[in-house]
Amino acid sequence: MKCVVAIDGTASSGKSTTARLLAKKLGVTYLDTGAMYRAVTYLLLQEDGLQASDGLLQKVLLSSPLEFKILNRKLYVYLDGKLLENELRTPEVDRWVSHVAEHLSVRAFLVAKQREIGKRRRLVCEGRDIGSVVFPDAALKVFMTCDLEERTRRRKKELIEKGIERGFEEVKLNLQKRDEIDSTRKLSPLTRTTDAFYVDTTHLTIEEQVELIEAEVQKRMEGK
Ligand code: C5P
Repeated sequence: MKCVVAIDGTASSGKSTTARLLAKKLGVTYLDTGAMYRAVTYLLLQEDGLQASDGLLQKVLLSSPLEFKILNRKLYVYLDGKLLENELRTPEVDRWVSHVAEHLSVRAFLVAKQREIGKRRRLVCEGRDIGSVVFPDAALKVFMTCDLEERTRRRKKELIEKGIERGFEEVKLNLQKRDEIDSTRKLSPLTRTTDAFYVDTTHLTIEEQVELIEAEVQKRMEGK
């Protein structure tokens, strides 16, 4: 099967919500690869493994009790059989995830899982290296971005909804830092591929973002 839409972009630019709604409209699976990197980070935080070498990380991952399951066209992450949800979106995971995502062993492990999931399903997949590395033959590649202040407001609101209070500057700094690490790392950095459809979501509503990309999908399908 084929990755229908690959969405990459900066942190909190609206990728997840857009990808989820778009997948629903198209009747395909929504794959949030950020959740997978967050799950590995959560595991390493639990096991005090953040400083582990790449070789050790590879061993930890191969024998890890992490499971990635697709149910009702959506990814669910389990650790030791327990569903992980809010655990993946804490400020602590935010703080470490981009460092964890720099490791070759982590990327190789997760990219293999992502391709395995994509083998038998049509996907709207989002992350940082989807159009460039994971599914370079995606029917449509999208690069999403948004003004940093607006992204900070969105992320802060998301945290408040989870009962987590953080200052504006702290949230902003985390987004900035993650973008910097994600775009400058050696392996699979976040890049805007030349064939990606560029969407700046600063002044767009979620509905507008989804409609814009859906229209582009239609165009590609009609071969325009
Ligand atoms: O998308 P989200 O913000 O949840 O991703 C969390 C982090 O996971 C990113 O900041 C990045 O470091 C890492 N990531 C990645 N490659 C992906 C998806 C996420 O390196 N495909």
